[in-house]
Amino acid sequence: MHTQARAQDDDMSRQRVVVAGLGDVGVLTAIRLSRHADVVGISVRPALVSGQELGVRLSRPDDWARDYWIPFDRFRRLDRVRIIQGTLNGVDLAARTVSGQRDDGGTFTEGYDTLVISTGVSNGFWRRPTMQSAAEIGADLRAAHDRVAAARSVIVVGGGAAAVSSAANMATTWPDKRIDLYFPGERALVGYHPRIWKRIQGRLTDFGVGLHPGHRAALANGFAGEVITSEPVHWSTGQPPASAEAVLWAIGRVHPNTGWLPPELLDEHGFVRVTPELRVPGQPGVFAIGDVAATDPLRSSARNRGDALVSRNIRAELAGRRLRAFRAPGRRWGSLLGIQPNGLEVFFPTGHALRFPSWSVERVVMPLIVRWGMYGGVRKNRPLA
Ligand SMILES: Cc1cc2nc3c(=O)[nH]c(=O)nc-3n(C[C@H](O)[C@H](O)[C@H](O)COP(=O)(O)OP(=O)(O)OC[C@H]3O[C@@H](n4cnc5c(N)ncnc54)[C@H](O)[C@@H]3O)c2cc1C
Repeated sequence: MHTQARAQDDDMSRQRVVVAGLGDVGVLTAIRLSRHADVVGISVRPALVSGQELGVRLSRPDDWARDYWIPFDRFRRLDRVRIIQGTLNGVDLAARTVSGQRDDGGTFTEGYDTLVISTGVSNGFWRRPTMQSAAEIGADLRAAHDRVAAARSVIVVGGGAAAVSSAANMATTWPDKRIDLYFPGERALVGYHPRIWKRIQGRLTDFGVGLHPGHRAALANGFAGEVITSEPVHWSTGQPPASAEAVLWAIGRVHPNTGWLPPELLDEHGFVRVTPELRVPGQPGVFAIGDVAATDPLRSSARNRGDALVSRNIRAELAGRRLRAFRAPGRRWGSLLGIQPNGLEVFFPTGHALRFPSWSVERVVMPLIVRWGMYGGVRKNRPLA
């Protein structure tokens, strides 16, 4: 069906698009395509459980859940999308099918005309491709929060956004806790404009976070920070070991969730190779997007509107129109500390920041820009029966 190019025809209604992985970017892509095609989404969980904002997730899990744990049936524009809860374990590129295991243990095989690979990466304990029910998601969230809440001292190892945001949010939530941030370089947030670290560094110091540059942790073989530990941390940079009641590892050891894909689709690090148009080379009708896609060194298509581009390109390919290329900014950007009691700050690649005061986050940014603008409507949480 895919090879029958449809001159000027943008109607994909009989086309089957399978979105493999419904995380941040998979959900947005399924929403965008749901009006144009027969969309099937495959997800290990019955909800969007975002990998974003680790700091808020750990310190204020209820606030985090309101914005980052959203059951699929609350997204209005996913009503037309058929969602299979299951783990993908294979793709047959010739037969154009994906297959996997359902939550009830049965198997499934789904045919596609277009496949969007958006299975993301695993990172720490907070991003794992594990099949989970709503109760298990909640228990996970609570367990990590309880673990750090009970500790009188916490070491955060890592210099990226997850580490910095965790240290900051724990320090503001629990001012009596001793929090120390250890990172390998002279400064943290290396992928961001230097001005951003200057600003955040001042804030961390005001919050009482101990900052320890030049510390690279020595990792036990194969350990990638999947659990919160309590043993002393040893440094390959020569300093004496450091101890705390809880050690949070945010060391950016990401692992692409591509075990279900044939090696010929992958680069030497296991990420999905893509053209600038987000197509998988040599595989018509197969696209990849988000953290799993080897788009640019920062693999930044998720936060740079890759969902809009891939949806447009899928429709353009089927209509025989020209595809557009993804352009990534050279530096990271985003909200580093998440929503705070005094509002939300967004840091741009230029190093500038824009602060949305609390009232505007509650009344404009979240309900209008995010829930309506981005997601096309999110129903209110149903009261528990
Ligand atoms: C609108 C937006 C704003 C953002 N803002 C920021 C920001 O301010 N700062 C910042 O640092 N980043 C930001 N990000 C980016 C974010 O950090 C990540 O890039 C993003 O979460 C990656 O999304 P993803 O869908 O690729 O991966 P994920 O959200 O991890 O989704 C992948 C999904 O696939 C599932 N999966 C994996 N394997 C399988 C399998 N075999 N079978 C079935 N399912 C599987 C996973 O469990 C997961 O649910 C933003 C992203 C978006 C979309």
